[in-house]
Amino acid sequence: MQGSRMKALEEKILTEGTVLPGNVLKVGGFLNQQIDSDFIMEIGKEIARLYESEHITRVLTVESSGIAIAVAAGIALHVPCIFAKKHRSANMPREVYTASVYSYTHRETYEIAVAKDYLSSADRVLIVDDFLANGNAVRGLMRILEDAGAQLVGCAIAIEKGFQGAGDELRAKGIRVESLAIVDAMTDESVRFRAQ
Ligand code: 5GP
Repeated sequence: MQGSRMKALEEKILTEGTVLPGNVLKVGGFLNQQIDSDFIMEIGKEIARLYESEHITRVLTVESSGIAIAVAAGIALHVPCIFAKKHRSANMPREVYTASVYSYTHRETYEIAVAKDYLSSADRVLIVDDFLANGNAVRGLMRILEDAGAQLVGCAIAIEKGFQGAGDELRAKGIRVESLAIVDAMTDESVRFRAQ
């Protein structure tokens, strides 16, 4: 396959996705609430193919919707998958890297945290997420990597909402962003994808 676009994902978005008010694409039937296990592994393998020569040591995402795809990528790359936690829990160590993230879908700011035990300056990290919209989640994860002194290798995203601009802003800064589907426009009747 050429480039990073995954035709099977575009087809699944067209047949199983729905567009909700507020520019939200719902893919709960295969990527979010219910996960198509075989398909998520195909996504993981495609991400691994794109980054196979990059000597990645960790895959990093945010709970909860990024975890499935990040685990699939971690399995295919044979590296651990870390997810940033959104809520402090009793068993969270006190030594954590943190960042504030504004969620456009939930209209609130929350703190994400990763235990210092799991990231170090020796790591080469791939950020993975289900969606890239305004880029707040990815930028929060990038701040955590900066704090840890770890190297960001790039980002692998299942569905980028290209019309929200964050993917192209990150690319303009020289960050490698590979998205398996890029939605350039959507209404409740149609979804238009960016070509290769
Ligand atoms: P960002 O921080 O890039 O604005 O948004 C990324 C996060 O918001 C993703 O991790 C995803 O959970 C959620 N998100 C953003 N847009 C959508 C969308 O259209 N559909 C779904 N299901 N989640 C979205």
